[in-house]
Amino acid sequence: MPPREHHRIFRSNWLRAAVLGANDGIVSTASLITGVAAAQATHGAILTSGLAGLVAGALSMAAGEYVSVRSQADTEAADLRLEQRSLKRNSTEELAELIDIYVGRGLTRDLATQVARQLTSHDALDAHARDELGISVHNRARPVQAAVASAASFAGGAALPLLVATLAPVPQLIGWVIGASVVCLAGLGALAAGAGGAPRAPAALRVTVLGGLAMAATTMVGALFGVAV
Ligand SMILES: [Zn+2]
Repeated sequence: MPPREHHRIFRSNWLRAAVLGANDGIVSTASLITGVAAAQATHGAILTSGLAGLVAGALSMAAGEYVSVRSQADTEAADLRLEQRSLKRNSTEELAELIDIYVGRGLTRDLATQVARQLTSHDALDAHARDELGISVHNRARPVQAAVASAASFAGGAALPLLVATLAPVPQLIGWVIGASVVCLAGLGALAAGAGGAPRAPAALRVTVLGGLAMAATTMVGALFGVAV
């Protein structure tokens, strides 16, 4: 058996999406919670706003992701229908087009003709989808999976600051939520970078600093409005 190399690209794509959703959930829910807590709200009001933020964020992520991936899927489907029709009507031109593609990639015209003929008789639409349109089984748009995955990863991330806010004593709640969130953001940033083969420390630092700034900003807004109202 030849040794199998481990390609990171397929794993890193969905992992990056999941980490992005979780980051979003942590930062926006923690910011909401610290903002409301800084306005001297009761523990119940803080937790209610955190829970509402979790649900609203997860649904909004799902809706946004569904709409965007669905329109991509519609475009792909329309392109494939167009290609299917053209394969039936202009099979000679379509074969010539495929041959030109393989010549352009470096095959001799003889070999390109052989390859194009064999792939056309095996599965013409698949060959044109992959080599002409760049659509393959690895990257077909899947709207429902994309929507569920981003809602779940957002909710998973949002659950962390909400849980910490539930357990922490109210006077120290802001500190606990920010501290736990920053630690998790750093861990997630390092995990995503490592999975994609990128350096861990800069990724962890970037996401931590940006998340920390968001929480500091809403905490300040909450403190200002809490005094003013
Ligand atoms: Zn074609």
